[in-house]
Amino acid sequence: MTSRDGFQWTPETGLAQGVPSIGVISPPTNISSSPENYDVIIVGGGYSGLTATRDLTLAGLRVLLVEARDRIGGRSWSSNIGDYPFEMGGTWVHWGQPHVWREISRYNMRTELEESFDFSCGVNHFQLRTNQGTSIMSHEEEDNILAAGLEKFVNVDGDMGRKVIPYAHDAFHVPEARCYDEMSAQDRINAIALSLTPNERASLESFVLLCSCGTLETTSFFEFLHWWALCGYSYRGCMDYLISYKFKGGQSSFAIKFFKEALATGRLSYVFNAPVSSISDQGDQVTLTTRDGRQYSGTRLVSTIPLNVLNSVSFNPPLDTQRATATNIGHVNQCVKVHAEISNKDMRSWTGISYPFNKLIYAIGDGTTPSGNTHVVCFGGSSNHIHPEEDINETKKAVESMAPGNMDIKRLVFHNWSKDEFAKGAWFFSPPRLLSTSLDAMRARHGNVVFANSDWAVGWRSFIDGAIEEGTRAAMTVKEELLPSPALRSQL
Ligand code: FAD
Repeated sequence: MTSRDGFQWTPETGLAQGVPSIGVISPPTNISSSPENYDVIIVGGGYSGLTATRDLTLAGLRVLLVEARDRIGGRSWSSNIGDYPFEMGGTWVHWGQPHVWREISRYNMRTELEESFDFSCGVNHFQLRTNQGTSIMSHEEEDNILAAGLEKFVNVDGDMGRKVIPYAHDAFHVPEARCYDEMSAQDRINAIALSLTPNERASLESFVLLCSCGTLETTSFFEFLHWWALCGYSYRGCMDYLISYKFKGGQSSFAIKFFKEALATGRLSYVFNAPVSSISDQGDQVTLTTRDGRQYSGTRLVSTIPLNVLNSVSFNPPLDTQRATATNIGHVNQCVKVHAEISNKDMRSWTGISYPFNKLIYAIGDGTTPSGNTHVVCFGGSSNHIHPEEDINETKKAVESMAPGNMDIKRLVFHNWSKDEFAKGAWFFSPPRLLSTSLDAMRARHGNVVFANSDWAVGWRSFIDGAIEEGTRAAMTVKEELLPSPALRSQL
């Protein structure tokens, strides 16, 4: 099935909107015409919503899943083009991410992962292009430069950040950590600038921007420290956890397992292509209205609508001021992720940074397609933003500029997350002060409405793991309230 989402360009076909995905659900609903009062309505079929849906149907509750798109997966979905999965959003997972690994293990998918990096082919080097010129280095030199820059960046306590964030899943455990949320990445770079070589600085800034996809000024230094802590306080950990292991069959092959398991209970109703416009809590039930006027009611509602688009839905009673303010501020990640299929087979082992002049900053050889081309994945963001579909020649130029002479482009595949009306951005990355002022408010419930999204997870916030953490939390809350307690159950 082809989703409305995503774009593909080839020299033969030009630009086309919509790409095939196994995450498209057809027919888009299984609801009969008779209205029903559900136990729980889940808004959003990303990993938060899919986890909550799966857990609540398994617990015996009647669940309605309402999703704006034609597919599951939200910000994590893959497009299978010619039997090869291009990851349009969330991609990499790791066994050190507890919630995601439990699910990978539960669905017996441990052997369905593969490595992105393969340093065994011809163009086996790192290419650093800056305003000062181009340097070609070994991958070991790449690691050394990045590790050196990053260690200077995070070492605010003489212990690589361990004293500031000793518990990565309770990041404000040490009250002093809050002061680092007052700082931007730019503030911290200014403080250590004299200790950085030009190549260290360019590589460090590129890596920080790869993580936040904002600008250095809009990137919270605290949130970067939080990522660093999650990755075991090391550059090696960052590479392993953040960017190494992906599903051979793509993310949609994982997401569909949650959906199918929920469906198999016989307690799941669903409606896709149904953007929600309002949510009204009447005390004894919650009613939602879709843009085209359909109404559904349930005893509880789990909203997994992301932070950056929560203000597009009207709530009655209105959201509290702190959550509404946080929603209006939003997160800063405007990632531009572009997949390029290129004819040079040897580029499989290439990695590169082109910064700050290029519209795409960081790229790696990520696979070999069935036709033998190299798949290179490129990342950019707010610092030099581009809407890829608006000017394909400009996008091709940005890809070519990552490795001039070596990028003979056969295909481009991408999703414009900035213009996506159900995301308005990519993974959560906080600007300064948002987390220290508003994390608790983002996580709080609102009467019979429970909020779950990776954007306000406490552990791997911003990641698939954080989405599953949040879906699990929401399902537990609802189960505790709607299911009889074990003591009561034993008397039934
Ligand atoms: P979402 O996936 O955003 O789900 C919310 C759902 O709500 C969506 O399906 C949306 O359509 C729906 N919705 C929104 N508004 C409405 C409405 N009004 N009515 C009805 N439905 C609505 N994470 C990793 O772990 N590893 C990675 O490598 C990684 N890379 C990433 C790369 C990119 C480019 C992007 C975009 C994300 C990446 N992430 C990665 C992050 C990860 O994808 C997200 O954190 C995670 O998928 C969020 O899941 P969620 O369910 O919390 O939110």
